[in-house]
Amino acid sequence: MSSSARPVVTRIAPSPTGSMHIGTARTALFNWLYARHCGGKFLLRIEDTDRERSTEASVQVILDGLDWLGLHPDEPPTYQFARAARHREAVEALFAAGGAYRCYMTPEETAAERERARTEGRAIRSPWRDREAPGDDRPFTIRFRGPLEGETVVDDLVKGQVTFANRDLDDLVLLRSDGTPTYNLAVVVDDHDMGVTHVFRGDDHLSNAARQSLIYTAMGWDLPVFAHLPMIHGPDGAKLSKRHGAQAVGEFADLGYLPEAMRNYLARLGWGHGDDELFTDAQAISWFDIRDVVRSPARLDWNKLNHVNAHYIRLADAGRLADLVMDVLRRRGEAPGKTDRDRTLALIPLVKESAKTLIELADLTAFARLVRPLALDAKTISQLDGETRARLARLALALESVSDWTAEPLLAALRDFASGEGVGLGKFGAPLRGVLSAGYPAPDLASALAGLGREESLGRIADALR
Ligand code: GLU
Repeated sequence: MSSSARPVVTRIAPSPTGSMHIGTARTALFNWLYARHCGGKFLLRIEDTDRERSTEASVQVILDGLDWLGLHPDEPPTYQFARAARHREAVEALFAAGGAYRCYMTPEETAAERERARTEGRAIRSPWRDREAPGDDRPFTIRFRGPLEGETVVDDLVKGQVTFANRDLDDLVLLRSDGTPTYNLAVVVDDHDMGVTHVFRGDDHLSNAARQSLIYTAMGWDLPVFAHLPMIHGPDGAKLSKRHGAQAVGEFADLGYLPEAMRNYLARLGWGHGDDELFTDAQAISWFDIRDVVRSPARLDWNKLNHVNAHYIRLADAGRLADLVMDVLRRRGEAPGKTDRDRTLALIPLVKESAKTLIELADLTAFARLVRPLALDAKTISQLDGETRARLARLALALESVSDWTAEPLLAALRDFASGEGVGLGKFGAPLRGVLSAGYPAPDLASALAGLGREESLGRIADALR
């Protein structure tokens, strides 16, 4: 049965490195979208064979990253390292069938052959490919018996047909002399055993696809469908790196981006549905086709990401946003309490239109979390002359009679008060704003009053006039 006739199974196979690159996140997203689109499965394999880097913490970063992104695998993860016995068994079967051979080259001989192969412009072969075993107990590796002639064509859904001359593909080591499996072998055995039909990953793995294709064929297994995705570059077109501001999923979370915004934005990085910038998961799932992924690298565009994030902040539930702002505060080392959350929650509907990130939302609501009496800023203090204090005292009286403490009636009350005083709003707006917010960013006066609530607003004014 060919891969395309089997139920679709995609996977993401990250190596735990301590962070989850945004490129890995996008690869996961495309695999997830494709599986959902086809009614198939999306699986996770942790490629934890590098024992030094694969700590529990670095594995957790990946699990947390996928969880945060909302890309939930359909089965518990497969751990590659735990499958070493199965990898050996597969190599032994291939050896028994003549598709692999024992190579007794010493490390020095291997280094010399590597050098010879390099100068002769060919791939590494071993003299043991066609030689009798030495008959002693020298250590050996098991190498793949690759074809010497012909071509291997990777029929890639993004890159098109990519042809590799077999003479350029090494007789790969499949098992090291200590019996541990090598990378390309483990990937093939795992993908086969997991029933993976579609392998979508970064295009740094394109030449591995040729090597892996040869192993599949030698094993007598169906090849998966391959698609190799172009990299994500920074705004300047260079490889995405630290200096572009962020490159790991956790960094984007810390910068205040919502997971649904990241899904939407990452989907647009290298794939698209016409000019649609904003779409739901359901739309992305119904529209997604890996064949529509573009061949050239995508560029991270902060303005677009901010635009998408602002959209999802506007759509988000206020309670959820309040919780997320509390997380921002905790990351800053603060210990917000219930009052902080209540005040933030009250303000969110009044300011969320102006926030592009959760950080901005935290900053736009900060004034509401200040504790009375506020330490007023110098500018406000200088504005509180006798005339202004008297006016604010009269304003406080006027506000006390506002029964519906919401932005609209409050704005009407402010206007009535100003006209009653025979002055413009500007005459007392700045000091009032200072009294309410102590120089912190705050929305328009009516919204600030509404968000603070009657008691807190009148309390702050009274404190300033004491
Ligand atoms: N473990 C590889 C990586 O993190 C991915 C291998 C694959 O997708 O086949 O780059």
